[in-house]
Amino acid sequence: MILEAGGSEPEEARIVADHLVLANLSGHDSHGVGMLPAYERSLGNETLKPNRTVELVRDDGAIMMFDGGMGYGQVVGRQATDAAIERCRGTGIVLAPVRNCHHLGRIGTYGEQAADAGFASLHFVNVVGHQALVAPYRGTDARYSTNPICLSLPGSDRQPPVLLDMATSRIAHGKARVAHNRGEQAPEGSLIDHRGRTTRDPSVLFQQPAGALTSFGDHKGYGLAVFCELLGGMMSGGHTSQPEHEVEGTIVNNMFMVVFDPERLVERSAMEHELEALIAHVKASPAADPEEPVLAPGDPERAMRVERAEAIPVDAESWRQIVAAGARLGVDPARLEALTALVPGVVAAL
Ligand code: NAD
Repeated sequence: MILEAGGSEPEEARIVADHLVLANLSGHDSHGVGMLPAYERSLGNETLKPNRTVELVRDDGAIMMFDGGMGYGQVVGRQATDAAIERCRGTGIVLAPVRNCHHLGRIGTYGEQAADAGFASLHFVNVVGHQALVAPYRGTDARYSTNPICLSLPGSDRQPPVLLDMATSRIAHGKARVAHNRGEQAPEGSLIDHRGRTTRDPSVLFQQPAGALTSFGDHKGYGLAVFCELLGGMMSGGHTSQPEHEVEGTIVNNMFMVVFDPERLVERSAMEHELEALIAHVKASPAADPEEPVLAPGDPERAMRVERAEAIPVDAESWRQIVAAGARLGVDPARLEALTALVPGVVAAL
């Protein structure tokens, strides 16, 4: 409803809605339906362009360079990944940067797309177009954003795909937003206030002068975030977060993506054996807390999809913001308020 009211054709609305709902189902409420008000703001200032098709701006064998034209990232990112997968069937590896996407959403979606096709993938993403959110290691103010990384390998009959998909900040900005909306504290060490002092109060991000998120893993996460700028922002031909570029009150993602066919490197049977044995080996480590066994990257999202199979929770403040955003686009609040129990099929109609 909201997406179509924002000008999207039904197929685009379905792809974006499915992506957002899958993020909620995977436990990443920060990248789920709660993003709709931000998308409505970008539609309002015309930085988000509905119904765009990704453009192939450089086509050079195993190098495919794309421009998303500020279309919905969930759509243009998907199209770029599909095209890279198709090319990879012939070339065995494809380097496919894609620039100028409005918010790509949950980057793991693209890793899953590659894994579903039997391919491995690497994604380094930067985020520009709005004020910086994350302070560099040893710094006291924000200089770049939550710059996510995703690494993905296909699984076997016994081992599901291994998928690491994470922000390089200690917590994603959307998680601070959700904590703020719920009146909860952020995890220890994940935030600093505008004077650079550590705090757990997420409201420091939503006031002026603003505080900042911190990088995960001190200098290591910070170093990876810098490479998201250099690979995702610079090598895609997009922008990095350095101040010569305009900050437009929107969300721009630039993604450096590599897709490769693991069977060009190792026999599938040998790879599957090694993958299963390695994951079993690490998961067999006795848990420090018996309630919290060792997991593989990707396990928490799979478990959450089972737990949330019937419904996704949306807190009252996020829901209020979604209804208000819908109303600004002409959607009758009563139609949205009728959706009190959110089940996947219903949310997909948003
Ligand atoms: P997170 O901190 O929940 O970490 C997620 C990753 O860690 C997943 O791969 C998960 O499987 C793995 N993981 C979690 N607990 C684990 C455990 N106990 N053992 C093994 N592996 C475990 O995620 P995040 O950093 O908050 O990021 C959330 C989402 O936000 C991601 O989907 C990311 O792509 C997205 N994001 C997007 C943007 C953007 O600009 N589009 C920016 C930042 C983040």
